[in-house]
Amino acid sequence: MDTSRKLHARKRIALVAHDNKKKDLIDWAIFNKVALAKHELVATGTTGKLLEEELDRPVKKLLSGPLGGDQQIGALIAQGEIDALIFFWDPMEAQPHDSDVKALLRVAVAWNCIVAMDRSTADFVLTSKLMHEEYTIKLQDYSGYLKRKIE
Ligand code: PGA
Repeated sequence: MDTSRKLHARKRIALVAHDNKKKDLIDWAIFNKVALAKHELVATGTTGKLLEEELDRPVKKLLSGPLGGDQQIGALIAQGEIDALIFFWDPMEAQPHDSDVKALLRVAVAWNCIVAMDRSTADFVLTSKLMHEEYTIKLQDYSGYLKRKIE
């Protein structure tokens, strides 16, 4: 299996925000509109609709998070089709799709995806010079796992 993956200068960024965090994410995105214009944006349904309206630019919208959108983003990460995840999840309220949230965070780490879960980390990520350059992500070597013997 490949143990690295090349990210292009133009990154594919997935954005997700729980309802109590949507305002924070939208404010952050408006503040960073110029920097975000250099990248492709993908989002869960409602977050994507709000971003599209506020940024006045196209955003690829998946299903709403609780209806499968988080899982769609997880699948795109596993397929190497997302480079960074900006996920403002709500630490103060249980979600109907908590299991999907956990799965998304797990798969993001499994694939060494760039992840920011709050505004300050998102600022550091977006202002990194690496966001505007090619970058090679090192992946965990899962070949031992894939070739494991099943009794
Ligand atoms: P939404 O989903 O953008 O459709 O509200 C976000 C989430 O809860 O995962």
